[in-house]
Amino acid sequence: MIANDPAVESLCSLLPRRIQKLGVLAYNLWWTWHPEAQKLFQRIDPVLWERVYHNPVCFLRQAPRQTLAAVVNRAEFLEAYDEVIRNFEHYMRGHENGTAPWFSSYERAWSLEKPVAYFSFEFGLHEVLPMYAGGLGVLAADHLKEASDLGVPMVGIGFLYVHGYFKQRIHEDGWQEAIFERIDFNSLPITLVRDAQGQPLVIALELPKRKVHFQVWKAQVGRVPLYLIDTDLPINELSDRMLTQRLYDPDPSTRLDQEIVLGIGGVRLLRVLNIEPAVWHLNEGHPVFSTLERIRELVAQGFSFEEARARVRRNTLFTTHTPVAAGNDRFPRWLVEQHFSGYWEQLGLTREDFLALGDDHGDFGVTPLSLRMSAKANGVSELHGHVARAMWQWMYPDRETPITHITNGVHVRTWLARRMKVLLDEYLGVNWLNRLDDPITWQLFDELPDDALWNVRKHLKRKLASFMRERARTKWITHSRHPVQIIASGVMIDPNVLTIGFARRFATYKRATLILSDLPRLLRILNNPARPVQIIFAGKAHPNDEPGKRFIQELYRVIKDADTAGRMVFIEDYDMNVARHLVQGVDVWLNTPRRPYEASGTSGMKAAINGALNFSVLDGWWREAWNGRNGWAIGEDRDYDDPEQQDRADAEALYTILEEEIVPLYYTTGSDDIPHEWLKRVRESMRTILPQFSTRRMLKQYIAEMYAPLAEAETLSMPTA
Ligand SMILES: *Cc1c(COP(=O)(O)O)cnc(C)c1O
Repeated sequence: MIANDPAVESLCSLLPRRIQKLGVLAYNLWWTWHPEAQKLFQRIDPVLWERVYHNPVCFLRQAPRQTLAAVVNRAEFLEAYDEVIRNFEHYMRGHENGTAPWFSSYERAWSLEKPVAYFSFEFGLHEVLPMYAGGLGVLAADHLKEASDLGVPMVGIGFLYVHGYFKQRIHEDGWQEAIFERIDFNSLPITLVRDAQGQPLVIALELPKRKVHFQVWKAQVGRVPLYLIDTDLPINELSDRMLTQRLYDPDPSTRLDQEIVLGIGGVRLLRVLNIEPAVWHLNEGHPVFSTLERIRELVAQGFSFEEARARVRRNTLFTTHTPVAAGNDRFPRWLVEQHFSGYWEQLGLTREDFLALGDDHGDFGVTPLSLRMSAKANGVSELHGHVARAMWQWMYPDRETPITHITNGVHVRTWLARRMKVLLDEYLGVNWLNRLDDPITWQLFDELPDDALWNVRKHLKRKLASFMRERARTKWITHSRHPVQIIASGVMIDPNVLTIGFARRFATYKRATLILSDLPRLLRILNNPARPVQIIFAGKAHPNDEPGKRFIQELYRVIKDADTAGRMVFIEDYDMNVARHLVQGVDVWLNTPRRPYEASGTSGMKAAINGALNFSVLDGWWREAWNGRNGWAIGEDRDYDDPEQQDRADAEALYTILEEEIVPLYYTTGSDDIPHEWLKRVRESMRTILPQFSTRRMLKQYIAEMYAPLAEAETLSMPTA
């Protein structure tokens, strides 16, 4: 047999022997970044593939037996199957294209047996695993995928949420409804972790006045395992079963319980699995209680608190992701006291000393605690590094805040359109993705002819338009939507028209409504008969964010108005599937955050690698990427004291650049109907952004500046107790 997990075996047993390995493939998320693997499923039954929303486990279970039997007779299918399986198996054995992964020849004092443990509240691997709310989760998943590609030993620790984030429905009046549907974990491409007897592994920890138990699911991300904690067990009290119900529970006590389960539970899980990390990476402050648990273990072995803390700090890394207050959890002291009474004694601390560890102006903050517990800390762009240092300077009266920066990147294979990859394979060489950060790879890029590039761009735009039409049709058929909502969902989109995309969480600092500030001017731009423009919006507001929901409503009112002529649209239920279609299909990616709140941003990178041009405020990553020739900057590289003045200046710049630069450039074509000057910018954008703003560059930087030094410090240290 080819697999030994019961779920995998049972799926394989449903398949004809000749294609049985599809069952193994389905359970390894390697397929999420190999479009040719997804295409295998799609080729078997394209309608079913869409109906199961690209979930290969559901797909193989539901595919009619005679359909599966029939593909075994299709020679071209078998050829594609054999190639995908061969590539997959080579990859898993660690010799893709005949070469070992990059990390195996990396000069290091660090055993491959000891992984980096990467803790995060959210992971955005694919739309079938909706365990993410936005950029933080997608970045975490991209980090794991890149670790797998480079052969870096890593394990992820996170949560499996019963409701995922939520499904968004926009009512006719523009109000967002959050729909929480129960996800059947057995239908997902994950497996339950079992003990030596084959029973589901269950681990317990203490919360105030009770014990909470959790089981663990494993998502196999190429070569990297991601362990997902699930407290929805009958043995738990009802309120504890709900701990892994949804992301970012607004109740502080529940949130604190969640963070304890992730941090302390995560450490206990690694111990049970016998995994000894070389480095502990805290993605945001949510998992910081893992450091306390590691200290508790050492104190139990006889170390003093200070010795234990020094040891724990030595190989702990903390990445902070946002200057927004809501992203830096702070709890009242009494609540922390309630949750940790009985625990600080085990650390050898008094109540006062314990509370001082997280002191944040009288509250208990997870970010200050994380900073105090980590040997290294970083922000996620150069500007964010500055902002984070200023923000936490009060903790370091005598010296500079010890926070550096590593700018985020995106996992190129996950976000690059298949067609664009095929085109680049042709001009950069089939192996180019394995050398994407090598400047030599890009010397060949100039040979790519404009017409080939433009054809792929047009194809991707048509694909986006038909994606929107099909979603609109599905809604129309349910009789649940007003006709104007069908128009608002994009049925009148024209693939020949300059198309701008704006998709992100509707947090107010992202200023989705900035573009509405002079509506008559906007309408003139959209409805210019010779040079029309269309704008596609998507995004969710956190269910408790009333101002964010009002932004959606304000925008939706404008979209529904006949004056916009169907040229402004809103796609419901922004998720990774919608994001993929948008970043691959639009011409311009618009981003208007109120600087400096966008710590990095990553969606613009995804758009750039597919040949869209960024049009963004000089905040986060774009401030580093923009060179005057690879897109457009909204506003100046400066700060404002008055937010209203800032909004006015940014809106003015936005309209002027659209009118005077972007629209004319797009519609100025040669006799061959190709906008050559536009494509010149596209090339400059792809060439400068694809290598630099990839997780390839990012993870190598984490290794050189963070993981390797921390792992080395850990190796050199000797136990003294
Ligand atoms: C990439 C991505 C994000 C992050 O977008 P930003 O605009 O950079 O904040 C959020 N949500 C989804 C679904 C994404 O794919």
